Amino acid sequence: MVNYKELGLVNSREIFKKAFEGKYAIPAFNFNNMEQMQAIIQACVEESSPVILQVSSGARKYANQTLLRYMAQGAVEYAKELGKNIPIVLHLDHGADFEICKSCVDMGFSSVMIDGSHHSYEDNIALTRKVVEYAHQYDVTVEGELGVLAGIEDDVVAEHHTYTQPEEVEDFVSKTGVDSLAISIGTSHGANKFTPAQCTRDENGVLIPPPLRFDILEAIEKRIPGFPIVLHGSSSVPQQYVELINKYGGNLKDSIGIPEEELRRAAKSAVCKINIDSDGRLAMTASIRETFALHPEWFDPRQYLGPAREELKKLYAHKCVAVLGSAGKA
Ligand SMILES: [Zn+2]
Repeated sequence: MVNYKELGLVNSREIFKKAFEGKYAIPAFNFNNMEQMQAIIQACVEESSPVILQVSSGARKYANQTLLRYMAQGAVEYAKELGKNIPIVLHLDHGADFEICKSCVDMGFSSVMIDGSHHSYEDNIALTRKVVEYAHQYDVTVEGELGVLAGIEDDVVAEHHTYTQPEEVEDFVSKTGVDSLAISIGTSHGANKFTPAQCTRDENGVLIPPPLRFDILEAIEKRIPGFPIVLHGSSSVPQQYVELINKYGGNLKDSIGIPEEELRRAAKSAVCKINIDSDGRLAMTASIRETFALHPEWFDPRQYLGPAREELKKLYAHKCVAVLGSAGKA
C-alpha cells in the first residue's frame, strides 16, 4: 500500500476549491508514455498551472499501472527540477468497478473516477458510495458521473448522449459523498464528436457544431451551489492537426471538436476540471507524420518523438492560457 502523499501528489479538493472561486478550470491531460508526461509537466511548470495527470484503463493496460505511478512520482520531482512545485494530481479516468478504483487508491493515485453512469441510477449510487467510502479513508478524492457522453474513448463507448438530469444531482451528490461530478451537456469522447449533418456552416463554409447545453449546466449549478463539475470529452480537434495528418498520408474524416470559446465559458462556471485527450493524440500524430514525410532517412525515435513532444507542449500551454484559464494559478 502506497499513499499518494508520500509521493508528493495532491488530491483534487483544494485545487477545485480555488478553481471554483477563481473562475477557471484545472486541465486533466491523459498520459501513457514518457514524452506526453514530459510535455504536460514542462507546459504546466512554464505556465504555472496545477495539473491532473490522468490515466485511463486503456493506459493502465498499455503502459502498466505501476510504471505510470512511478512516472507520476517522477513528474513531481521533474517539476521541482524545472523550478516550480506545481500541484499534481494522479487520477484514474473512467474506473469501471470498485476493484480498479481500490487498486489505484492502494497504489498511490490521489484521485479516482468511478463511472457508474451505464448502470441504473440506484446501482450508480450504490457503486459510487462504495468507492467513496473506501477512497476517503485515505483522503483520495472521487469523481462520479451522471448522464452519458456519446463517442468512443478507449473502453468507453456510447452511441448517443444522455444528458444529465439536473433534478438528480442533489440526491446523487448527497447519497454518494462524491467530491466532484462529471456531467453530460453535449461534449463527447473522441475526435469525431459530431457528424457534419449535426453542424451548421458559417459564411466561410466552416462547420459549427451544436452548442453545449449551458441551460443544463446552469440548472445543475443552482441545485448544488459551489460543487465542482467535470467536463469529459472536451477536445477542440484543431483543424490544423487534422489537415497535417491528412496531408501526410492520414485519413481522418469528419473530425469535429468543441469550440474553445465554449470551453472557456464553461471554465468560468462551476466546471473545475476539463478533460483533454484527443487533441494531444492529434498533435503528436500530426507532428510524427510530418517528420516521417520530410525526413524519410531518419530512424532514431528521438528524431520524431522530440518534435512531437514540443508540439504537445505548445498545445498544453495554449490550453492552460487560452482555454482553461489555469495559467498562473499554481
Ligand atoms: Zn471521459
